[in-house]
Amino acid sequence: MTHNRETHPKDFPLAGLANDGWSTEDEATATCFCGAVQLAFLTRTQPTQGPGLVKTFVCNCSDCHKITASMFASNFAVLDTHLKHLRGRDNLQTWGQSQTIASRHMMTNYFCKTCGTLMYRVGSAFPGISICRIGTIDDFSLMETKLRPREEYFVNTRVNWLPGVEGTEKRDGML
Ligand SMILES: [Zn+2]
Ligand SMILES: [Zn+2]
Repeated sequence: MTHNRETHPKDFPLAGLANDGWSTEDEATATCFCGAVQLAFLTRTQPTQGPGLVKTFVCNCSDCHKITASMFASNFAVLDTHLKHLRGRDNLQTWGQSQTIASRHMMTNYFCKTCGTLMYRVGSAFPGISICRIGTIDDFSLMETKLRPREEYFVNTRVNWLPGVEGTEKRDGML
């Protein structure tokens, strides 16, 4: 099945060079800045709506400062079995380390080797789950609805000029 703006004429702004992002009732795309890598994932929420979207969260840990070159990361975790690589899987480069991870488990970044957009992270402590990035989704309205962050981690290392995310369950650390 092909998806394009004609078959899915949802009114949302497109960012980056791809112009073929889409969303349906329970599925949506995430695309890198240059458009080479595109993912599709289920937006139905576990456990009430069936397997798919595991959780949504903001992380303020010091690794996320470096990874995002900013102050926090906005993430959504999906089951690997419910994450499709529509294109560009072979354009994803990986890099990982375990030294700064509290659990000493390896965390590996998957990013577009053309434009550098981090598409997801995979951790040996979280088998079967990919931690995707809310900022890469194409339908921006989902950032306010299904993908809105529900939890906030590492509040203890959040910069003090940010007030935190309204309505989230907050923790120092992650677990
Ligand atoms: Zn790219
Ligand atoms: Zn983090």
